[in-house]
Amino acid sequence: MTLKSKTAVITGSTSGIGLAYARALAAEGVNVLINGFGKPEDIEAERAKLESDFGVKAVYSPADMGRPDQIAEMVTLGKSTFGTVDILINNAGIQHVAPIETFPIDKWDQIIAINMSSAFHAMRAVIPMMKAQGWGRIISTASAHSLTASPFKSAYVTAKHGLAGLTKTAALELATFKITVNCISPGYVWTPLVENQIPDTMKARGMTREQVINDVLLVAQPTKQFVTPEQVAAIAVFLCSDAAAQITGANISADGGWTAA
Ligand code: NAD
Repeated sequence: MTLKSKTAVITGSTSGIGLAYARALAAEGVNVLINGFGKPEDIEAERAKLESDFGVKAVYSPADMGRPDQIAEMVTLGKSTFGTVDILINNAGIQHVAPIETFPIDKWDQIIAINMSSAFHAMRAVIPMMKAQGWGRIISTASAHSLTASPFKSAYVTAKHGLAGLTKTAALELATFKITVNCISPGYVWTPLVENQIPDTMKARGMTREQVINDVLLVAQPTKQFVTPEQVAAIAVFLCSDAAAQITGANISADGGWTAA
């Protein structure tokens, strides 16, 4: 079976890993709904490029993944544009780093909502369609932090562990419907988000670029190399294939050995 003319909703896909998912699926002929924040002209350029590079249809939803009503509207837009949703990728995510005792309560609520609960709301909206058509793929970007912890990232680690638990539960509920549910857990991925931290960290710690990369960013990643967004996206494409039909409820690490240590 080919993925051509299937449709995917990909949250948080205006940059980084999400955009790589959109481009990798579009390269397989999948029509895509992209979502996320950014400058309207940049988002429109990426949307148009998906169509011109791959000959698929691409639509944009500005839904805020912190808002259940907007998540439902995003899925409705996918359905009204493409007729159905075959693939859901829960990818939107944010981070905040602070000790628990001073962790801002609004940041905790926001991270739990965007990084974890949004996946529940999106699954809730797409599952009836997937059940009715007898095929579906649900993939979430978890993190090495769905398997292990780091200090000062309480909300992120909690949300990502929760996302991995939700993945397993949904996989069991949907096991007999030809719908697979999995998560991918990257280590440090080279995205603009990570790249932009380097100059500030160099200044703050008086380090060279190499020292920041090796002694701060890649300290826990045994290969001492970043994961690329394209490597993460290639796992998602595989999970959408027939070859992966028996992979469900899995949490697939792509972390350069981080969680093996
Ligand atoms: P990124 O900042 O480049 O992308 C995040 C995307 O989410 C953007 O499109 C942004 O606009 C969108 N977004 C943020 N808040 C949103 C909201 N409320 N509603 C809708 N969209 C929203 O970051 P990234 O590195 O590509 O991260 C993508 C996912 O991968 C996240 O879930 C992140 O936790 C996870 N992840 C990243 C890394 C890494 O090292 N970069 C490692 C492991 C997991």
